[in-house]
Amino acid sequence: MESWERDAACKDAPTRLWFGPGDGTQERLWTAAPLAVCAACPVKIECLEANVLVTSGVFGGTTPNERKAIRAARGLPLWPSVFEEGGQSRAVRSYSPDAIRKREYLARKATG
Ligand code: SF4
Repeated sequence: MESWERDAACKDAPTRLWFGPGDGTQERLWTAAPLAVCAACPVKIECLEANVLVTSGVFGGTTPNERKAIRAARGLPLWPSVFEEGGQSRAVRSYSPDAIRKREYLARKATG
């Protein structure tokens, strides 16, 4: 865990809220709740920089589509592989490629 992660506003929140239902629900709908938490998070900037390559979930007060736009503006890969994502840190949670897949699977399963 990086030092800034200890101050994450989401550290005690259910992870699946940050990844949405995975059922095609519009991004603007499922991201509203986690974005409200991010808005007051003291480590928002650090979180975004650590996770700008992550293609799913809310990080640093940004949605997946917003981070895609940031990657485009910075000349970064638009769709980095999950293996590249695994090299990124994530506030409070472990973001190994397997952890990402498992979390997304559980999020889909939880919503049927
Ligand atoms: S996802 Fe990042 S910015 Fe949002 S609450 Fe968690 S640590 Fe803070």
